Amino acid sequence: MPEDIKSLSEQELKEAFAKMGEPAYRAQQVYKWLHMGVNSFDEMTNISKKLRQVLVEKYYISRAAIEKKLISDYDGTRKYLLSFHDGEMVESVLMKYHHGYTSCISTQVGCKMGCTFCATGKSGFSRNLTASEMLSQLQTEQQDANIRISNIVLMGMGEPLDNFENVIRFLKLVSSENGMNIGMRHISLSTCGIVPRIYELADMKLQLTLSVSLHAPNDQIRSRTMPVNRKYPVSELLKACRYYVQQTNRRISFEYAMIDGVNDSDACARELTVQLKGILSHVNLIPVNAVGGTGYQKSKKERMTRFISILEKAGITATVRRTLGSDINASCGQLRRSVRDGHEEGGG
Ligand code: SAH
Ligand code: SF4
Repeated sequence: MPEDIKSLSEQELKEAFAKMGEPAYRAQQVYKWLHMGVNSFDEMTNISKKLRQVLVEKYYISRAAIEKKLISDYDGTRKYLLSFHDGEMVESVLMKYHHGYTSCISTQVGCKMGCTFCATGKSGFSRNLTASEMLSQLQTEQQDANIRISNIVLMGMGEPLDNFENVIRFLKLVSSENGMNIGMRHISLSTCGIVPRIYELADMKLQLTLSVSLHAPNDQIRSRTMPVNRKYPVSELLKACRYYVQQTNRRISFEYAMIDGVNDSDACARELTVQLKGILSHVNLIPVNAVGGTGYQKSKKERMTRFISILEKAGITATVRRTLGSDINASCGQLRRSVRDGHEEGGG
């Protein structure tokens, strides 16, 4: 079985090349090509034909092929359905902000966490993505749109902390000097709250932004919509968040999908202010995307405004997240479901 060359660090590649009798600078040349996004060894024009042949036999270069692409008429957001060598598919979304391009990539094919409001959660789990498959999503988008990505959010399909090793490997590769060189401060990782992994991440002291999908102020509501809460309840999760801030000095971003009549009352807002007291945080309110079959509806605008004002009075900053690409169902999980099951999802 050929090995996944693009998941190797520059150091690991140098060690592998040393075993083949190749100098370190050669490994560095190959590393640079891989991170520029070449899809074959033949594109590595400064590498001898002989060595390219050896590499072809020993390694493969992972790639993400475009199966489907939707471009928003409103804001140019591009949503991709991408496939890997085994035919498994994930979604990635490329968004343009005033400061540059942000890519929202997937970390798993499907997800095991089963959140009741989430299209990905409803589709089950197939497999983890490798570090190179995460990189390939970015590279395919860059090539297709002819742009450079400056920011990354791990907020597509899958739970990043349930694929911890590959995600950490990806973060090191994508931020490496001879790689895409995207600094940790330009990367956000979103988690449903796998507590032991939050502690582990905190101890690594990376400068990335941690987003925590909270979506409820207490166990009663949270366990109903997010099964992971039965294992790691709100109190444990927030304790881990406090530790994260203490270790990294980074503000945590709490995601809160506003679901009509479920988690959007004044009482919920007040309870949230108590829970978040003393945590360096920012709250992102997202009107829930009504995924087919869940019965959930997004909260009314007035409700969101009122919710925010309660948070702000308690000194907690909160914003309603700008929804890009709302005409193309840009939130992840919905496109793959619609292609796989032969129907388009409502909402957006
Ligand atoms: N598994 C990780 C990251 C992927 S989900 C996590 O759960 O955090 C990315 C974000 O989209 C999460 O905040 C998730 O809760 C949210 N989300 C999922 N389905 C949604 C929906 N139907 N409407 C609004 N937000 C949703
Ligand atoms: Fe998985 Fe995140 Fe969806 Fe929950 S919201 S099912 S953790 S992808």
